[in-house]
Amino acid sequence: MADNACTDAVLGTSPQSTDTESESTDALRQRIRQLEEREVELAGRVGLLENVIERMGDGVVVADKDGKFIIYNPAAERIIGIGAKDIPIDEWQVRYGVYRPDKVTAFPPDEQPLARAVRGEEVDWAEMYVRNDVIRDGAFITLTARPLKDESGAPNGGVVVFHDSTNRKLAEAALAAERNLLRCIIDNIPDLIFVTDRDGRYIANNLAHLVSLGEADRNAAVGSVEADYVGHETAATHRAEELEIMDSGIAIMDREEPVTDAAGNRRWLLTTKAPLRNDDREIIGIVGISRDITEIKRAAEELEAARTIAEHATNAKSEFLANMSHEIRTPMNGIIGMTELALDTDLETEQREYLTMVKESASSLLSLLNDILDFSKIEAGRLEIDQIDFQLRDMIGDTMEALSLKALSKEIEIAYHVAPDVPEHVIGDPRRLRQVLVNLVGNAIKFTSFGEVVLDVGLEETIGDESTILFKITDTGIGIPVEHHARIFDAFSQVDSTTTRRFGGTGLGLSISSQLVRLMGGAIELSSQPGGGSTFAFSVKLRTGILVSEATSSKEAINLRGLPVLVVDDNATNRRILEEILGNWGMKPTVVSTGADALRAMSRATDLGEPFAVVLLDSMMPDVDGFMLVESIKQHPELTSATLMMLSSADRAGDAARCRQMGISSYLTKPIKQSTLFDAIVSSVMTSLLTQRSAPVEIPKTHTETVRPLNLLLAEDNAVNQRLAARILEKRGHTVTIANNGLEAVEAVRRERFDLIVMDVQMPEMDGLEATAAIRNLEKETKDHIPIVALTAHAMKGDRERCLDAGMDFYVSKPIQPQELIEVIDSLTSAARTDDDDEGEDGGNSEVFDSHAALDRVEGDQELLLELIELFFEQSPGLKAEIEEAVEKRDSKALQNAAHSLKGSTANFAATAAYEAALRLEMMGRGNDFTDADEAYTLLEREILTLTSALAAYRQDVLV
Ligand code: ADP
Repeated sequence: MADNACTDAVLGTSPQSTDTESESTDALRQRIRQLEEREVELAGRVGLLENVIERMGDGVVVADKDGKFIIYNPAAERIIGIGAKDIPIDEWQVRYGVYRPDKVTAFPPDEQPLARAVRGEEVDWAEMYVRNDVIRDGAFITLTARPLKDESGAPNGGVVVFHDSTNRKLAEAALAAERNLLRCIIDNIPDLIFVTDRDGRYIANNLAHLVSLGEADRNAAVGSVEADYVGHETAATHRAEELEIMDSGIAIMDREEPVTDAAGNRRWLLTTKAPLRNDDREIIGIVGISRDITEIKRAAEELEAARTIAEHATNAKSEFLANMSHEIRTPMNGIIGMTELALDTDLETEQREYLTMVKESASSLLSLLNDILDFSKIEAGRLEIDQIDFQLRDMIGDTMEALSLKALSKEIEIAYHVAPDVPEHVIGDPRRLRQVLVNLVGNAIKFTSFGEVVLDVGLEETIGDESTILFKITDTGIGIPVEHHARIFDAFSQVDSTTTRRFGGTGLGLSISSQLVRLMGGAIELSSQPGGGSTFAFSVKLRTGILVSEATSSKEAINLRGLPVLVVDDNATNRRILEEILGNWGMKPTVVSTGADALRAMSRATDLGEPFAVVLLDSMMPDVDGFMLVESIKQHPELTSATLMMLSSADRAGDAARCRQMGISSYLTKPIKQSTLFDAIVSSVMTSLLTQRSAPVEIPKTHTETVRPLNLLLAEDNAVNQRLAARILEKRGHTVTIANNGLEAVEAVRRERFDLIVMDVQMPEMDGLEATAAIRNLEKETKDHIPIVALTAHAMKGDRERCLDAGMDFYVSKPIQPQELIEVIDSLTSAARTDDDDEGEDGGNSEVFDSHAALDRVEGDQELLLELIELFFEQSPGLKAEIEEAVEKRDSKALQNAAHSLKGSTANFAATAAYEAALRLEMMGRGNDFTDADEAYTLLEREILTLTSALAAYRQDVLV
């Protein structure tokens, strides 16, 4: 406008003078120049604008008032796909394919934004969709349209500016879809989910939460608070809790809470609430999730109730079973006991057969009942494990001995081996341990027809005073398929029903055993293959006990060191076990597997000047059996110095008699108990030594010249030992005064002067150590010193020191070895002896009596043996009565003492069965375990009766 005004001024007329005119011309020229410059500048600006429009990213379309395009920039062509044509606006949408954003409805021409702008309307941010031959995939555009006006303000065109919004549109759509999906998921979650702001106003709720609030309108919930829906108290508690969470920033997790829902139902919720944070980690509200656990709670309560009911029922059942089993056991004992009594009477063969069957049936019924009783006790959690001192090797030996009877009719070797480091004295439950062994070894025997059953006992570890002992039972039987391994430890489980029919059994044994082992702090394992035998291994924890075993202690005291011994056995396991046992005792074992090898080994040893002192022979061997081998040995006089000991199986009834006939000094039943073997070797070796020494040229004879008769005091409480020792000493020409205990010994010393005292260490009233101390005290006045020889079965380490410390002069271990005792006495009393001894006379006729071992023990002194027999007749009824009373009254101490005494008396007659029966009762007394005491007593009674009649027959024979 200024320019126009200016132009008007330049072209307009002026009334000024010529000078003035020339002046004006100059001014005019200048104006024209200015105008020209101005024009140039304007053209530049227009060019710039065109340039800008040309290069803009947004599409720009300008139409004149007739709807013809004046500007159509390249961006517009790129976005729409088609360039500007001289076309009227109303065709625009048809040519270019413009639709409403729904992509379906074509845009009406007169509503077309450019047309509206040309009409003078303004259109803001309209969205359209373009699809044509060029942009086949289509594009969204967003546009703004404005009218153009002339100077008077009348519309004279329109301009549209637009851009491609396809990407934004797609992103928005994807976001919306995602949001929908999320909402869908959250709404379908059964948990109640809600989000609140800091003021507790709901920002979002899922469907489950809305339902719990009783709110049908999602939007209505937004902005409300919990108090709008639930009781004031609950809302206040929750609000306080949420404030606390927002304050501390610490979430609450899985809190169980009872609530009442909108419908008034009590429900249980498991709630987690956490602080809601923004991008700057500021806490801006709460996110809550509550799980409805009402059903779970109800189910748990019902389950608990059901469990309690089931427990009561199980307890009642187990209790009933336990009671019933007990009630049945009592009459069963009656049946078995009475049957046994009946079997002891005179019976016809048929009657005996029937009664034997009754007894066997009753016994198996009883063992079944015992299993059921144990099983129900374990189920009811009532089975307790005792803690008793016991001797492990003896228990294992006794058990294996009893089990060997089960293998009577089978051709199987039964052996066991206890490693030397396994503790001897332990504290635990011998009865239960035995039960497990009986079951596992019993099964091994049951399921093995040939081969061997071996028990290996080893020490796994010792921590403090607790040792873990590992028992391994290996058999060469039918084996167990792998798929049954886990199951057979379940109650009533057997490998298959055929097996049940073939072998019998309840399937309870392994279940009970594994539970017992568990109660004893261990576990049981099985490895087995069908046809490849089975190995059951279990461990138990046992504390180390304090008992002292006579067997072990005498083992330490009696010296078998360096004694060459030959083992002849075809079974490799037996050879290995015997070799180890004998080696542990310090003997020099050689093992061979055949009779021929044995003969060779014996000849070689004899040639080398070191003949075998003992030969252990297996009676049952292929080709050359034990007896044939003995015959062969006898053919070689140079080999007969060895002590022959036969090892046989329990069923070979005739073997014992054959051994006696053949002069084999000892006969042992497999599996061999270590202590039995030890005792047998010691007694055989001693017997042969004594036999050799009783020859006229032996040691006593040479000594007789220098030995004078002595006045001796023998302090010993056991009558049999008294008699034995007194007799040995009297035979040496000494005078023997007897004291029954320490007190009597001290009294005797007060009364009389003795040359020497033989003093038992363990005695009632006053023991040997105290008595020695008292005597030494008396001697302080008399200035005398009577030599005292200690006599003890308790040959523990340190015992010797204790004896010597107490003032004793020498130490002799029991069982009394006559030669040793005599030598000790001789060495302690140096004066000459004038008396002559009748040592050379025949000490007895060992062929007459089958218990020649008994005669050997008394140096063949038949008279002494008869005396001992008399003494036994006198004492045994009393001791038997004491044992019976002790069993009846369950008096363990009395049982131990009486059984010990009776055992001692029987030992002199080499009466193994009676000895074992008494030993068993002694162990029961020691272990305070009366479980099988009645039965053991019945057995003892029978054995004593048998022994008594055998002794009576012998005495009769001798006296006639
Ligand atoms: P029972 O012997 O009274 O049937 P157990 O529980 O003692 O019950 O044994 C379960 C089953 O395991 C036996 O029936 C037998 O099938 C199998 N079994 C156990 N020990 C052996 C074994 N040493 N050799 C083969 N099978 C065995």
